[in-house]
Amino acid sequence: MTIPENLKHFKSELPENVTLVAVSKTKPNEDIMEAYNAGHRIFGENKVQEMTDKYEALPKDIEWHMIGHVQSNKIKYMVPFVSLIHGVDRMKLLKEINKQGEKHDRVINCLLQIKIAEEDSKFGMTDKKAEEILKSDTLSGFKFVNIKGVMGMATFTDDEAQIKKEFSFLKTTFDKLKTYHSANSNLEIISMGMSGDYQLAVACGSNMVRIGSSIFGERD
Ligand SMILES: *Cc1c(COP(=O)(O)O)cnc(C)c1O
Repeated sequence: MTIPENLKHFKSELPENVTLVAVSKTKPNEDIMEAYNAGHRIFGENKVQEMTDKYEALPKDIEWHMIGHVQSNKIKYMVPFVSLIHGVDRMKLLKEINKQGEKHDRVINCLLQIKIAEEDSKFGMTDKKAEEILKSDTLSGFKFVNIKGVMGMATFTDDEAQIKKEFSFLKTTFDKLKTYHSANSNLEIISMGMSGDYQLAVACGSNMVRIGSSIFGERD
């Protein structure tokens, strides 16, 4: 199947309220342009340098999502153009995002990454920590940060019951955190689900899926 065919498949299969992030990490600009020419505009990358290079080379109406783990010293490179940072897993990052956002006079949309997997390899904060951040006065001082939702990655396993448990936990956490409205947090997005588990994620309440290999083919 070609990239446009794969996209068409996802667009017809996913419910209307679910946003598709086409994960183009490691893939060349030509592949992204195939998706772009088929009408797709939202792409996800996991490395700041690679995303910045692609941003510079490609059409400016692309919405770039940073889906990877972020180091605070790299934030300055993406703040001028990034449309959503999925992997915000600590207060220190929010502080730097706010600082860089102010420099560029841009409010930066962020998701709080919640650790839902049992594996130690996955990043994220606890639901308690997220709650603490949303309630804190420090956050209300960050005028250039806008918290739009949560993100999570399930354990890499064939055990569907385990994955379902983790996704359901993220949905419950989202529902709880959503009650904390403020000037710079308004939770609407649950980013969960990848090529292998997006159907389960959508069934558990995801409204943003991050699909790479099922659109662009396996990565090396
Ligand atoms: C690579 C990646 C994806 C996409 O993975 P596929 O299995 O190729 O769909 C989704 N989310 C994150 C955070 C990733 O790093």
